Parts: sequence; C-alpha cells; structure tokens
Amino acid sequence: MRVAMIGTGYVGLVSGVCFSDFGHDVVCVDKAVHKIDMLERGEVPIFEPGLDTLMHKNVEAGRLTFTTDLKTAVEEADAVFIAVGTPTRRGDGHADLTYVYAAAEEIAHALTDYTVVVTKSTVPVGTNREVERVIRKANPEAKFDVASNPEFLREGAAIDDFMRPDRVVVGVEGDEAKDVMSALNRPLYLREAPSIYTDLESAEMIKYAANAFLATKITFINEIAALCEKVGANVKEVSKGMGLDNRIGNKFLHAGPGYGGSCFPKDTKALARIGQDHSQPNQIVETVIKVNEERKRAMTDKVLDLMDGSVNGKRIAILGVTFKPNTDDMRDAPSLTIVPALVGAGAEVRVTDPEGKKEGEALLPGVTWCADAYEAAHEADALVILTEWNEFRALDLVRLKQGMRGAAVADLRNIYKPDEMAEAGFSYVSVGR
Ligand code: NAD
Repeated sequence: MRVAMIGTGYVGLVSGVCFSDFGHDVVCVDKAVHKIDMLERGEVPIFEPGLDTLMHKNVEAGRLTFTTDLKTAVEEADAVFIAVGTPTRRGDGHADLTYVYAAAEEIAHALTDYTVVVTKSTVPVGTNREVERVIRKANPEAKFDVASNPEFLREGAAIDDFMRPDRVVVGVEGDEAKDVMSALNRPLYLREAPSIYTDLESAEMIKYAANAFLATKITFINEIAALCEKVGANVKEVSKGMGLDNRIGNKFLHAGPGYGGSCFPKDTKALARIGQDHSQPNQIVETVIKVNEERKRAMTDKVLDLMDGSVNGKRIAILGVTFKPNTDDMRDAPSLTIVPALVGAGAEVRVTDPEGKKEGEALLPGVTWCADAYEAAHEADALVILTEWNEFRALDLVRLKQGMRGAAVADLRNIYKPDEMAEAGFSYVSVGR
C-alpha cells in the first residue's frame, strides 16, 4: 500500500515509520520545514526509544520518505492519514480541530484516484463525518471514503505499542474502504492483534472513553494515596492488593503527582465538553479533571510542608520534568505547575532531566539546568523526584547526601523505600505512605 502520513509528530512519525516497516511505501508530510529538514538529514526531532534505528532502516530500504509537499504525497497514496495535533482550544476546553479540517481541505484538493482518508488524531464524535463534508465541499468529484483509526500508543513505548497493540480500532463504512484498512493492518492481524471494525462514532468514542478511564484510574489511586497518608496505610500495598484482582488490574494504579502529558489532560477536557454539549454531562470525568488539578497543587504544598512552610531562599533540586520517563514531551507535565510555584515562592530551583531540557528551557524560566542528579543536588536544601527516569532509581545516596546542604527529599513517584532513605539520613516524604 502507498501511505501518506499528514503530521509528523509523536504519532505521525511513529506510525509512518512502523507502517513502512510493515512493507508499505510511506511518505511523511509536515508543514514544519525544520522537522522535515531534520528528518531528511536522518535526525529524529523527538526522543522516542528505538525510533531512529527503525527509521534509518526503512529510509535505506527506500520505503520511507519525508516531504513538505502534501499534494504530491496525497496524489500517489491509497490511504492518507491525518495525524495532526488536536490540542485544547483556548478558553473553552473543546478539542481544537483547526488543524484537522485544514489538513482535510488540503487533502481534498490533491485527491485523484480512490483514496481512504483516515483520521488517526484523537477527535470528538462527529469529526470524521465533518471531515467527509469538508472534502466533499472542496472537491465534489473526489472518489474517497473516510475512516477513523484512533491511536493508542504510549510515548516512551510507542514502537512496541504500535507493532503489538492490545487492539486495533477502525471505524469504517463500505467494503472498499474496509479492504484498504485491512490490507494496511494485515501484519498486525498476523500477530493476532484483536481488531474492532465499527462505525465512525463508536471508534471516535472508544478513544476518549479509554483515555478518560485511565485518567480516572490514576486519579482514583491518587485520592486513595492522600487518604492513606491520613490513616497510616501504605498506598503501594493497597495498589498491589487491588491490582491482583483481575477485574481491576495493576496498571495505572501508581500514586504520583497527578497525570499530565499530551493526551489525558486534553482528552478528559474534550470529553467533558462533548457531554455538556449533548446535555449529558460526564460528572465523573469533570470531577477527575478537578481532582487532578488539585493534586498537582497539593504536591507543591507537600514540598512546602517538608521545608517547614517556606522555600524562600532555599535551594531545591528537581529530578525529572517530562510528564513521564522515556520521552522529551513536556505537554501538561506536573512539573509545569510545581516548578513555577516553587520559583514563585522564592526558591532557587536546579533542574535535571535526561531529555527534558530542549523543550523545558522555554517552559520553565528562572531555573538552573544541571547535567545530572548530583549536580542538581549540589548544596541543595531539598530534593524533589518528579519523574521516575531509570537513572534516578538507583542514586548513590551517600554521595547525594554529602553534596547537599540539607537532607529533605520529596519522592513524588515512590521510587525509594522510606527505611533506606531514613537510614541514609534523609528526612523523606513520598506519596500515600
Ligand atoms: P504533535 O503536535 O507531536 O504533531 C502534530 C504534527 O502535525 C506537527 O508536527 C505539525 O507541524 C503537523 N501538522 C499540523 N497541521 C499540518 C498540516 N496541515 N499538514 C502537515 N502537517 C501538519 O502531535 P501528536 O502528539 O503526534 O498527536 C497527534 C494526534 O494524535 C493528536 O490528536 C493526539 O491526541 C493523538 N494521539 C497522541 C498520542 C501521543 O502519545 N502523543 C497518543 C495517541 C493519540
């Protein structure tokens, strides 16, 4: 199959590279000239483990190219994927569909033979029908069908998730489009990935419902963690005891500083707005959004409490600013709430993150960037673990303590054991223990 991937971000690039690895001919298109320039030089604009090797392999095999020329890419394609961003619209919480409809219109003018236009971006119910209308209006002669193929990959494990998905969801009507979608995903069926072929609306809804459910699970355990602290229970034991129940499962039951990232915050907000627009409010999701915001603020208070109520003039080391490990993505990361609050309260903040500096420098003004945890902790009064990168999991506690001025540690990911930290002489707090 010949595939055009419109949008070469976290989802578009990974999907394009993986489809080319399946043997399809893929052209990745982006408006951002600097991204395409980088890709043409063989550089990957984002940090995603394993992506560079797989990309180089398929470029060399002649199956993967990059361009800013949407028209030519679309003209030659059997399937055109829309993988552009759908961020929160400023002011009202709706998904901003400007990029999706702009891409649809551009695609419309470039369509020649029969083509399936597939939305991979996360979009509210009804968007695929609107994409169809946009294309039909711009090019009444076009021979095409639309399909919805929401993406469930996780940054940091994106290639494995794409290659071995828990399931593939396709919203599609009509046999011709269904055949194209089946041919595209054939390598996944051979790996026995379950697939769900359904209508457009259900496919769109599955994505939002799945993300909102996961955000709810995280928020639930975060509230339980807060209660554990009050009653003397240990949330790690509670999560384990809950997660061993097959009906519950152990994933997404790790207490932390609140969910962030490129998907959960915007998708929960968008789902809440969809509910409100249809006079069918999603009260659980609305509450999850509120509780998660409070959670991030409560984490700043936790650090303040650890420092006897004030961080003014104190030096604080922050380990990790990306929203989770193994990505450079900073979108809606809890660090964007916690770090500015500490800076605002008069702290001198020193930050380290294996991949976060490129994005983080502009987003976190007034902090000092350090090469590693020990440099960040140099003469610090307190240390805060915000993201559980592997390199923060086995620090030399003696060396760390010797370098610090104070001995306070707030571990917001529970990666250390309270007794080992006490033994090392730290005044240690974590979450839900
Ligand atoms: P992104 O911001 O990383 O990438 C979007 C890209 O689209 C940008 O490079 C932008 O320049 C490009 N673009 C926008 N309009 C264009 C146009 N008309 N022509 C060509 N290029 C255009 O976004 P992302 O994180 O990859 O997310 C894309 C979609 O996938 C979103 O709807 C998101 O919700 C969804 N999604 C994301 C993830 C994730 O982990 N990031 C996971 C699942 C689903």
